[in-house]
Amino acid sequence: MRLIRTALPRRVLLAAPALLTLPALAQVPRTPAQMEGPYYPRAIPADADADLLQVAGQPRPARGQPLLLEGVVRGPDGAALPGARIEIWQADHAGIYLHPGDSRLAQRDAGFQGFGRAVADGAGRYAFRTIRPGLYAGRTRHIHLRAASADGRLNLTSQIYFPNDPGNESDPLFRRMNAEARALLTARISPWDGGERAGFDIFLA
Ligand code: FE
Repeated sequence: MRLIRTALPRRVLLAAPALLTLPALAQVPRTPAQMEGPYYPRAIPADADADLLQVAGQPRPARGQPLLLEGVVRGPDGAALPGARIEIWQADHAGIYLHPGDSRLAQRDAGFQGFGRAVADGAGRYAFRTIRPGLYAGRTRHIHLRAASADGRLNLTSQIYFPNDPGNESDPLFRRMNAEARALLTARISPWDGGERAGFDIFLA
């Protein structure tokens, strides 16, 4: 028995017990929901792809610090959810939304898409090219998110935060979360070509 086990690839030895251990399933986290807020687009823009840095027909890219937002969408059992649909919307570099309710709409960066959609690949992975969102009055830095499983049964509306942002502790939504919720809604920042990468996994339940 021992000889057979050691002959198996390490990957198999690690994966098999994990699938059989029921208590491990209870450890799968669930991404906390947060309010949608007033700025989900009233009309979805003609260009609503996953590259918010480039708007079709605009001669120049978005202003601001480029950000690669990416992660994996998982279900209640921890398994990846291929085909999951993700939407994000956020303020431009100056804190202005693509929404008629934003009083500064006229000054908005026309080179920034403001809203985008992605579909998770076969491994549940999604990615957006966007910018580090600018600040507007009353909130810390954040990106709004909606996600759903391919069959639409699992849904989430929430917001993504940035680690150590000076506005986090005074933000009306961020400050009332416990440490676990904060960790689940805060992106992991690392370097990326010409900007930064924000890792953010989504756990639907
Ligand atoms: Fe917002």
